Parts: sequence; C-alpha cells; structure tokens
Amino acid sequence: MTTSLNAARRRADLAALADRDSPLDMLVIGGGVTGAAVALDAAARGLRVALVEANDLAFGTSRWSNKILHSGLSYLTSGHLPMIMECARERRILMTTVAPHLTSPLRHIYPLYGPEERALRVRLGVSLGKMLRKASGTPAELIPPPARIGALDTIRLLPQVRREGLRSSWSTVDGQLVDDARFVVALARTAAAFGASVCTSTRAENVTDYGARLVDTLTGEGFDVYARTVVNAAGRWAEGIDHEAILAQGGGTHLVIDAARLGNPTAGLSVPLGNSVSDLVSILPAQLGRAYIGFTRGDFPAVGSVESQKSSSDIDVLLSAVNTALRVPLTPADILGTFPGGSDLADPTRRHRIWLSGTMVSVVGGTLTTYRRRAQETVDAAIAVGKLTAAPCITETTPLIGASGFTPTASLPDFAVARYGSETPAVFDRAKVDDPFGLVAPGIDVTRAEIEFAVRHEGALCVDDVLDRRTRIGLVAADADKARRTVTDIVTETLADLST
Ligand SMILES: Cc1cc2nc3c(=O)[nH]c(=O)nc-3n(C[C@H](O)[C@H](O)[C@H](O)COP(=O)(O)OP(=O)(O)OC[C@H]3O[C@@H](n4cnc5c(N)ncnc54)[C@H](O)[C@@H]3O)c2cc1C
Repeated sequence: MTTSLNAARRRADLAALADRDSPLDMLVIGGGVTGAAVALDAAARGLRVALVEANDLAFGTSRWSNKILHSGLSYLTSGHLPMIMECARERRILMTTVAPHLTSPLRHIYPLYGPEERALRVRLGVSLGKMLRKASGTPAELIPPPARIGALDTIRLLPQVRREGLRSSWSTVDGQLVDDARFVVALARTAAAFGASVCTSTRAENVTDYGARLVDTLTGEGFDVYARTVVNAAGRWAEGIDHEAILAQGGGTHLVIDAARLGNPTAGLSVPLGNSVSDLVSILPAQLGRAYIGFTRGDFPAVGSVESQKSSSDIDVLLSAVNTALRVPLTPADILGTFPGGSDLADPTRRHRIWLSGTMVSVVGGTLTTYRRRAQETVDAAIAVGKLTAAPCITETTPLIGASGFTPTASLPDFAVARYGSETPAVFDRAKVDDPFGLVAPGIDVTRAEIEFAVRHEGALCVDDVLDRRTRIGLVAADADKARRTVTDIVTETLADLST
C-alpha cells in the first residue's frame, strides 16, 4: 500500500467507503495529531479503518502548538507523576525511533538577572529534569543534562540577550518538532501505508456509535458509513459529537518575528511571567528564518481563539516579558504575523480523557508529546468495547514515513532534509515541475518541488492546504502574498495531472 495521499486516492477511498457492504472496524473522526495517530495505531494492528477530517490534516489545534516535546517537568505543579514520566518516555520514543527526522534537541536559555534565590528555584527544576531524563532512558547524547553557563556563552547562543546585570544562565534541552502540521501529515501517510483510508474535506455528521453520514465538503455529496467502533477525536469540536466531550478552553496568541532581528539565535530564550518559575514566555527559533514567541505553559490569560487571532493584551504581555531579557526591545512593528492558541491549556495537568458512549470512544485533551500513548489507549478501549480482533500495538517501534534509511548529502538543501528526512531525494527526483530546486519566492526556503510533492503525495487539495499546513509560509501574510502565484500555478498543474 502506498504512502501517497492525493486527490485521486481520496476520490477512490470515498467511493470505496460509499460502496462498502460490511461495516468498518473503526471510523475515526478528526485529522489532528490524535485522530491521525489513532488511525495509524489501529491500521497497524490490522483493523479496517477510515479517518475522516472535515477540513485538512492538522487544521485544528495540532498546528498551533509550541512544537516543544516536553520532558514533563512543566507539569510538576500538577503533581501527576505518571503524566510526567509518560512525557519523558514518549519524547524519547519520538526522537529516537518514530520521527528522529522531524525532531531535534532544542536548547532553552533562562538568563539569570535577579537575586540568587530565583536561580536556586530554577536549579531545583533542572535537577529534577536531569533525573527525569535518566529515568526515561533518554541518552545524554540526545538530550544533554542541564547546565549553568556563563554570560559569554549565553551571548554566543543569544546574540541579542540583555547584557547588563546578566550573571549567568541555566541551559536546559528539550525536544522540538520542525513543524507540528507536517508531523500530523507524516502520521496520516504512515496510517495510509498500513491500509487506512484517509479522507480530508470529509465531515462526519449525524454521528452515532455505529457510524455517521460522511459529507464530501468539495461536492456536497454524502453517504452513510457503518463501523463497529467510532472514535471521536475532533478536539475542540468533539463536544458537538458527544456532549460529554468538553475540552477546557484556554487561550494565548503566538507572535512570529524575523529571527535575524534577534541575531538568528540557535537556542530558545525563556523568561518568567511575573514571579513564576514555571510559567514562561519563550522565544523559539523556527524554520523559514522565523522565531515564535508564546506562552510555554501555565495558566494563560484567557483571551484569543482560533477565530480571533490577535489580542493586543496578549501581545503586550508577550513583548513586555521578553523585552526584560533583550538588548533592543521588540515592538509591535517587529511582529510579522500571529497565530492562536486556543484549546486545552486551561487544564493544568493536560491529561487526556478517554470515555465510552456505547461503542463510541471519545478522546480529548493531552499534549502533542504524548500523542502515541493516547492513541494506544484509545485503540485498546475501542478493541475492547467493539470486541474486535486485533494484533498488539506496534507504534512504539514503527518509524514514520521518512524516518529511516537516509544519510543527507550535500546536493540536497538542509532545510528540505529537516522536513522530509529519507524522502528528500524523492521530493526532487520524482518532481515533474520545472526548476524543482527553485524557491517559491526570494528569501523563502521552500522549493517548487515541495509544492508539487505536497499535492502529489501529502494530501494537499488546494493552495491554502499548501500555504498553511504542508508549509508554514502562510504564518506571515506578506510571505504568502509573495508565494501565492507560484504555489497556485504548481497546485493547479499537479491537480490537473492527477485527474487525468
Ligand atoms: C497554544 C497551544 C500550545 C501547545 N503547545 C504544545 C507543545 O508545545 N507541546 C505539546 O506536546 N503539546 C502542546 N499543545 C497540546 C497539543 O497541541 C494538543 O494536544 C493537540 O494538538 C490536540 O490535537 P487533537 O488531534 O486532539 O485536536 P485537533 O488538532 O484540534 O484536531 C481535531 C480535528 O477534528 C476535525 N473535526 C472536527 N469536527 C469534525 C467532524 N465533524 N468531522 C470530521 N472532522 C472533524 C477538525 O477539523 C480538526 O482538524 C499545545 C496546545 C495549545 C492550545
């Protein structure tokens, strides 16, 4: 079974679902990280699965995360030890086996300006982090232990850090995903390789515990599908399917700025919100020469949502926090774009919940870091309630598409290798587009071949899917404007080619 998702395969999958005369083993609703991982887990156990997504893969919360693979330490105040251990363990599995190509260690710097008392409190946290890393079996070469570093080393990593009063810094290392939306696409494609039907632009309506009406949102046509179990993984929309599936609404805005404005830092910068040691505002280096600024944990100001992207009060809070540690303060004029938070951060434990309504299994909440374990528990519950026969879970040892068997060569752009891993040669070798290595617009590190690949193999059905989710060009409106013409041409040509 091929890993390619595209308009032709979607049409064939929808037609096959409409024609089915026997029920599926599992219908999964929602193509975020949770639904995609559930579909992968179930398909890899040999179940007949369909994943339906009303919009596009990673359309919901999954593309708005901070992209941090947590050690679990930030949940310390919740006192939920199993959750903390689960985070550390899942991070190791993700970074060593499942998606080493889409993850990398990210150093975070906590500059110390204040009294020694704060440094000691931070030290307690980092010592616990060290213990956690060891207990979860994470190799020190992957996640080096926390260290106290001097002012000069801090400046080397963060050229624009404020120098007056800087005594030293704590340096800790977490994991970082190159792109959360791309990660969801990799999960869905790997699920497809195990035989799952993955249908985007397909909304589940009239959902019961034995099926749903699936509506193709591109044509408006619909049909009923039956399944022995239904998994409700619709994130903040889950409540519309099962009224008990209430997701605590948090909030928060992220800011996008030019990394060059900060001297292209190679580490994240974290500063406390007020007097807190655990509630932070962080500047995180990101792909495409950007840096994101966001709240990295805690009880965030309850403003901002997926619809209302920009809240001036959030922007004020974020800028004034990071400016305490910058030489030249950032101003609103430095903001190139914003993106929302808007979901489960109000729950201090961020623990997921799974429950049953007949043979429907609803799953909401939890972190991106612990997605695999959440999916495993969900599928276990579905197998039990649906009395399904299935093989054991294998996702702990199953690399995602692109994860294995590749040594980068100098002929391939580094930025592409970071996004495609072992698939990078295929992105360029299989391209039919003219000038495959050409950039979509000056200064934007996305090639023309990647746009074709998104449509031919990664399930993009339209220009917005490409700008907003297969690439993150759309995070900066000015970049999207520069790239739109080229992207539109390549998307149109490739879709036409697929339909012949
Ligand atoms: C601001 C913020 C920052 C975060 N940062 C981190 C972080 O750094 N690290 C970390 O580990 N975790 C982080 N998290 C948590 C993480 O992002 C979430 O755990 C995760 O994204 C939840 O994914 P999901 O699949 O459950 O929901 P979603 O991604 O919202 O997916 C639900 C999907 O269901 C679809 N859908 C809805 N209704 C229907 C229907 N009727 N038919 C078909 N499809 C439907 C939607 O279109 C959507 O795509 C963060 C969360 C937030 C809010």
